Amino acid sequence: MIIEDKKVVSLQFTVKNAETGDLIETSEGAEPLIYLHGFNNLVPGLENALTGKAVGDQYDVTVTPEEGYGVRDENMVQNVPMAAFQGIEKVEVGMEFTADSPEGPVVVEVTKVENDMVTVDSNHPLAGVPLAFSGVIEDIREATESELEHGHIHGENCDH
Ligand code: ZN
Repeated sequence: MIIEDKKVVSLQFTVKNAETGDLIETSEGAEPLIYLHGFNNLVPGLENALTGKAVGDQYDVTVTPEEGYGVRDENMVQNVPMAAFQGIEKVEVGMEFTADSPEGPVVVEVTKVENDMVTVDSNHPLAGVPLAFSGVIEDIREATESELEHGHIHGENCDH
């Protein structure tokens, strides 16, 4: 069996910033990642690179921001008056808030606090970052009907 649309894939993965080599996340020492292939559950560049692989195959792929979490959009950086953060004792760099947007709720991160102005960024934290993914394919199985209906896997911890 090979990886193609409608297959459920288990894999080990390590993802690094391809520019700096900094580790972003790894499944080493934890559970493998299990996902439904062909339903945009992974970034496109990784999903494309995995297509056609078999159990035991290694992968090692560098994904551009365009094929990853997108390029940074400076329009998603905004200055908001401190007064907008009612009920929060101290607004600090690194804090995350959920804000309303025309496309629904978005997570914004505080990137600067200066006097009474707060700069918030709603870009994905990995937007603009080239990513190096590597690992090994551990298992491939057919998806169930309900998994295909929902577009994601149903594991032991699934609550529906
Ligand atoms: Zn479901």
